[in-house]
Amino acid sequence: MTAALRLQRIGVVGAGLAGLASALAAARSGRQVTLLEAAPQPPQLPGSVDVLPAMLCDLVGLGVADDCVRTGFAYRGVDVRGRDGALLHQLPTEPLAGARYPAALGMRRADLLAQLERAALAAGVQLLRGQRVGQVKPALPPSASGASGANGAVVQACAADGRLLCEVDLLLLAVGAASELRGRVFPEAEPVQPLGQRWWYALMRRPPELERPCVVLGGTGQRVVLHPVRHDEAGLAWIEPQLEALPLDPAAYLRQALAALPGWAGSLAALIRPDTPVVQRPVYSGLLQPHWHQGSVLAVGDCAHALPPHFGQSAAQAIEDARVLGDLLGNDLGADALVQAFTARRQERARQVHQLTTTAARWDLHPEGDTDLSSLMDRLQRTVARPA
Ligand SMILES: Cc1cc2nc3c(=O)[nH]c(=O)nc-3n(C[C@H](O)[C@H](O)[C@H](O)COP(=O)(O)OP(=O)(O)OC[C@H]3O[C@@H](n4cnc5c(N)ncnc54)[C@H](O)[C@@H]3O)c2cc1C
Repeated sequence: MTAALRLQRIGVVGAGLAGLASALAAARSGRQVTLLEAAPQPPQLPGSVDVLPAMLCDLVGLGVADDCVRTGFAYRGVDVRGRDGALLHQLPTEPLAGARYPAALGMRRADLLAQLERAALAAGVQLLRGQRVGQVKPALPPSASGASGANGAVVQACAADGRLLCEVDLLLLAVGAASELRGRVFPEAEPVQPLGQRWWYALMRRPPELERPCVVLGGTGQRVVLHPVRHDEAGLAWIEPQLEALPLDPAAYLRQALAALPGWAGSLAALIRPDTPVVQRPVYSGLLQPHWHQGSVLAVGDCAHALPPHFGQSAAQAIEDARVLGDLLGNDLGADALVQAFTARRQERARQVHQLTTTAARWDLHPEGDTDLSSLMDRLQRTVARPA
């Protein structure tokens, strides 16, 4: 008979990349996992995710890499083009995930979320959509009369009206950077800061010549990034300084912005149709300080480290959190030891990635004498190639 695991019940709040991947890692370690998500349906945002070599390793560790490879577009290397479309150089993408896997993948964001959700459900995660957590509180401590949280659970997640949603031994807060719940659980934390940059995302027909991601440097603060995500589809990101007011017709706006570029990047405008879904989001930056935990509540993903999406790192670091969590759950620690060990493995690493990606965002907007995005990406790749 196997001994009962400490931390038997784990709750996760938020079913974005961080929450789904963490719930999957926890369920694979034999825990009973409840995942609470405010939105009634999975988001269908037309974005893409760059599954970089270290992130692909983490997806291998989580057991979903094969499905991701089947769904996404395998590539190696990144083309960097000037404003006129001329190839300036190619950045290397060294494979890390082993001989069975490609170096990297482009994926639709919705496809990656769907793969993680499918694997999490298959591993036994109970996913409850349409459940917004309004408060997190300690479960009643054991008392002389014997009253306590169910089976000695230590933390409760409740709806805003106080309705109990789950009662667990450890609660993972994966609510993203902007959720009010982050501020309620971590009242001393600084809110994340906007960096003055906006990213626009769309999915479009893949230009046949696009075999690997391509970055086109535009004017100051402007950049186009195009990723192949399926054999017939590419994900586009248009990066520019924050606007005073948002346009009423995002597709028309994006088409116009691209059409103003010369050469190859300008020709992409024709691939944005009037009915192409386009989303935008401001770039935020901020690390949860001083701690990522409050009792038995542990922040993961953007809630702990809101990173500019440069070099694909906000998604990659969310998946890395889940991979590290899975490793630590294998050690059968108590809640206190687990949150301490997680912080020790993750906080300094996230700080380094935060510093590099925030520098990239700043250089986009205000190039400096020593601006060198290629060497920054090289430093980043070397940093994240070391196991977390
Ligand atoms: C359109 C788009 C494109 C992107 N492109 C890139 C990219 O190219 N590269 C990159 O690195 N990153 C990108 N990102 C960011 C990346 O997806 C995130 O960094 C990553 O998903 C990790 O986020 P997360 O899971 O921590 O938080 P989120 O993705 O924000 O998920 C948080 C979840 O928590 C839920 N939630 C919030 N509050 C509550 C509550 N009180 N109760 C219950 N549920 C709650 C939300 O509904 C949401 O589903 C993109 C994001 C978007 C939206």
